[in-house]
Amino acid sequence: MTINSPKIPATGKRAIFLDRDGVLNDVVDRGEDFFVQGKKVRWTAPFNYNEFRFKPGIVEVLEALGERGWLRILVTNQPDITYGTMPPEEHEKIMAEVKNLPLDDIYVCIHGRNDGCLCKKPLPGMLLTAAEKWGIHLPSSYMVGDTKSDLEAARAAGTRSIIISDGRNNDLASDWRAEELAAILDIIGE
Ligand SMILES: [Mg+2]
Repeated sequence: MTINSPKIPATGKRAIFLDRDGVLNDVVDRGEDFFVQGKKVRWTAPFNYNEFRFKPGIVEVLEALGERGWLRILVTNQPDITYGTMPPEEHEKIMAEVKNLPLDDIYVCIHGRNDGCLCKKPLPGMLLTAAEKWGIHLPSSYMVGDTKSDLEAARAAGTRSIIISDGRNNDLASDWRAEELAAILDIIGE
């Protein structure tokens, strides 16, 4: 798969690509001394269903996007399954909730950092696969995320980026910045 795949149309549908953790649901504070696969991480995905909390108001935003004609496509890294930090059955319970959201498609990369996949953000594989499947025009679409890997995936795919501010990502340079998901409705317009 290459960025300028000839199968991805020069015109086509508009999509909002959405990250999951930190965009649709809250991330979890693990404190100062938490490591996953040797990497220090403080804020992580929920590792089990009991930690999973949707952010308020997201259903209404997703519905509004659909009414305006935007495809709503989830693109999420979930390497904790591969790392053994999240039991697969807990992931399935969480995703059962996510699948009830008004989304048009869902892409999950479960690979770890050293698996050499093409889908794990910051690589654009999930966005490009969706673009090919749905006939999405990437330059008129948006990726909404909360981390650097979301922004880099957007850039690599040739789509625009919106970052959801969380007080920790102020140094990241996105095309737009929103204080909460509902604010993307003003950014993207009709
Ligand atoms: Mg995130």
